Amino acid sequence: MKKVLVMEDEANIRSFVVINLKRAGYETIEAGDGAEALEQIRKNPDIKVALLDIMLPGEMDGFEVCRRIRAGNSQMGIIMLTARTQEMDKVTGLMTGADDYVTKPFSPAELTARVDALYRRTGGDQTQSTDEIAQPPFLLNTRNRTLSKNGKPVKLTQVEYSIVKLFMENPGKALSREEILVAVWGKDYIGELKIVDVNIRRLRVKLEDDPQNPSRVMTVWGYGYKWGA
Ligand code: CA
Repeated sequence: MKKVLVMEDEANIRSFVVINLKRAGYETIEAGDGAEALEQIRKNPDIKVALLDIMLPGEMDGFEVCRRIRAGNSQMGIIMLTARTQEMDKVTGLMTGADDYVTKPFSPAELTARVDALYRRTGGDQTQSTDEIAQPPFLLNTRNRTLSKNGKPVKLTQVEYSIVKLFMENPGKALSREEILVAVWGKDYIGELKIVDVNIRRLRVKLEDDPQNPSRVMTVWGYGYKWGA
């Protein structure tokens, strides 16, 4: 069964989300606050995707829940539910470990499309045949979907892994943001291009010796990014 966690304190929004995900074939686990969400994840280790509302009652907001999930789990797909009134810059800046975000109010079609896309990615790509791409100091293992730098493992989300894989398969090639979006999120993705930049920013922090002066994940102004091999 395809399990999705829905953490949302407003009961009417939560049931709207749950009804639509069930219709799309998902089993839903509900939580009304952060503590409940973390407890449900502990009880249901097979949850593949979590939808996290940001503004919540209690001590933890959605970002904190996201951080705590990521501390022990880099595989789960995480989508933040944001309010239109929240400044996007703040939201993206704080998006420390999420793969995507959806702005309220959202349509059922938009929501299920995002969950489907993330679910497919977190399901793991079984068709990999080659094993490793070595570009010192980086070593990408496409069987285990892991990356190491100087022999030390780098914790990546599934989305970050997919971006690094795309880069390492195309060293030195300028990739447009659209190209990256299509390759990583799929051509049916209906979110904003900005999600590419959010993930790139995070990758730099994880991969670069000096994230402010990147030597790997290079910006191609007005176009996109390239992997400086
Ligand atoms: Ca809320």
